[in-house]
Amino acid sequence: MFLATHATVGAIIGRAAPNPLLAFLGGFISHFLLDMIPHGDAHLYENYRNHQKVKRALAYVTLDAVVTAYLILGIRSARQFDNGANVTAGIIGGLLPDLIIGVYNLIKVEWLTWFHNLHFFFHNFFIRRWQRDIAFSYGLTMQIVVLALMQTRI
Ligand SMILES: [Zn+2]
Repeated sequence: MFLATHATVGAIIGRAAPNPLLAFLGGFISHFLLDMIPHGDAHLYENYRNHQKVKRALAYVTLDAVVTAYLILGIRSARQFDNGANVTAGIIGGLLPDLIIGVYNLIKVEWLTWFHNLHFFFHNFFIRRWQRDIAFSYGLTMQIVVLALMQTRI
């Protein structure tokens, strides 16, 4: 799932949460639930792990990270939230699982293997059962539409 989607859902949860801790936890848990929705990027990560089409995967993640950075700046500068700390905590909670996966892949931290496995247990939950992911183009389109619609909910 796009980092931008995780950040947006984290912000929405943060707005509704009564305090930063619950906002963070809500954002963190939402990450796993959102990743369960097949979104067409499973092959990107598998290729990356198998040292195939690495540049494509890195370009995808880099573009997503840049869009997410602009999105967060836009969210935080365009709106004054009464509960700004909650919104920030929700965004951080929503993004953290993929950031941990990034660290795990970059520096091969063995003690994070359990987290990697947990993340992909959820990420590939339906893909494993159905033995296929949706097409990348469908996943991309679905996420862009949902992401645009969610901007009205923040
Ligand atoms: Zn993830």
